[in-house]
Amino acid sequence: MSSQNTDWTFPQDVGSAPTPNLIDGDWTQSTSGDTFSAFDPGTGRVIAEVTKADAHDTDTAVAAARRAFDEGRWTRLPAAERGAILWRAADIMDSKADELGVWESRNMGIPVPQARTMVHEAANQFRYYAGWADKVHGHTIDLGPAERRVQGYTLREPVGVVAMIVPWNAPLISASKKLAPALAAGCACVLKPADETPLTALWLGEILLEAGVPAGVVNVITGPGDTVGAALAEHPDVDQVAFTGSTEVGRSIIHAATGNLKKLQLELGGKSPVIVLPDADLERTIPAVAGAVFWNSGQVCAAGTRLFVHEAVHDQVVEGVAAEGRRLRLGYGADSDVDLGPLISQKQLDRVTSYVDGGRASGADVVTGGHRVGTDGYFFEPTVLTGVDQSMNVMREEIFGPVLGVMPFSDIDQAVALANDSSYGLASSVWTENGATAHGIARRLRAGRVGLNVHRAGGAYMPAGGYRQSGWGRENGEEGLSAYLEVKSVVSTLD
Ligand code: NAD
Repeated sequence: MSSQNTDWTFPQDVGSAPTPNLIDGDWTQSTSGDTFSAFDPGTGRVIAEVTKADAHDTDTAVAAARRAFDEGRWTRLPAAERGAILWRAADIMDSKADELGVWESRNMGIPVPQARTMVHEAANQFRYYAGWADKVHGHTIDLGPAERRVQGYTLREPVGVVAMIVPWNAPLISASKKLAPALAAGCACVLKPADETPLTALWLGEILLEAGVPAGVVNVITGPGDTVGAALAEHPDVDQVAFTGSTEVGRSIIHAATGNLKKLQLELGGKSPVIVLPDADLERTIPAVAGAVFWNSGQVCAAGTRLFVHEAVHDQVVEGVAAEGRRLRLGYGADSDVDLGPLISQKQLDRVTSYVDGGRASGADVVTGGHRVGTDGYFFEPTVLTGVDQSMNVMREEIFGPVLGVMPFSDIDQAVALANDSSYGLASSVWTENGATAHGIARRLRAGRVGLNVHRAGGAYMPAGGYRQSGWGRENGEEGLSAYLEVKSVVSTLD
């Protein structure tokens, strides 16, 4: 039997009983009573028991979102009031950034100060889209002199019930990048966080309720991807799935969504290239290139994992990036003076280890790193591989760990060809002091984002998404809002 408790609060009640799901404004245990464990990847120990929703609970959550949407619980509020609620949610998140950061770090491993920065970045999604809530306008269209007595205009309307399925590598940011624009558009939502990192998503649900989002407009359910995630992807009452995760699971969501032809927004994997030209400012480039691959222990979709360096500066850059990798301090997220935390799980540690071992076996040279660190938690050294080529798995497949493959090139055409030789197309960066050359290469790269003398920037403001198998659609910016809107054309005679 399910049990409800409207008074549950995070983090006070975590640990006393399995964390519940948020359905229709109530905190609810799964019908089956089943639970699963959430771990601290820095120690490998259990930190909470979590309600394990199943297909039946998924139905209940979707029905709650459907009712909330169909009754107009959210859209009947004035748009400016909805914007104010989203802004308030951002303020609450910022005010709780210390505690939220501690829990984000405890559940996914990243050092606490970086987790706190991620909380602010997530809050900024709500602040940015708060401003859009009362600016969802259509157009008036001139139908031309031949039809003077007919006018046309467009309305932009929320797509309906959106299921959001997100990964573990930046839990609050991934969830906020979907919830904030979907709510600004007027949708009702069911959020399913990753099995590895269910905790702060529940807290985000509580914050949205506290900010004034009506019951049922945001529901949060926790459970396995192949049951809860799959049930959401095929659910006939879900109008759209917004998914961030691996290309492999993205493909299965496409198949599952065919029943009611639901709309899909897919933010998938990457194998992003970094190109260093001979005139790059190496003092600035080397630490930035190391940060592009090693930050968050390489568990970043847009990580710059393929480095192409002009042969004139190849050795200097390889040695510099390797030295940066050796300098970075691995450690428990809550300890001070830590640069990198652990990988998320034993499974991820095994995956990274097996890619590096496979690279070695196929002839790669390990310049630095290549090993697990310690036996508690899932720490892995920042790793630089040379002697690689584009046929090797380490250069073709997403590893999602702190592993960089480096290849030399002799001219720009070759660098662009190498960079574009990938089934992915998420991010990229180019490092040079020549602005015209940089902008010229930006146009030739087949990627959703190109950084010129920077790898990662843009936040809520710049559209982000992938070419090729890195995804469908864009998050952030105006494009991120449009992803949750339908366009209706209205034509009318004037007499
Ligand atoms: P994943 O694909 O294994 O899981 C992502 C989510 O999908 C989780 O919530 C999981 O429970 C769920 N899921 C698993 N199987 C499912 C199924 N059959 N049906 C529906 N849902 C299912 O990815 P991950 O390991 O959690 O995260 C790492 C991946 O995410 C990497 O590939 C990374 O590149 C990608 N990612 C992409 C972006 C982006 O913006 N493009 C951002 C972050 C992470």
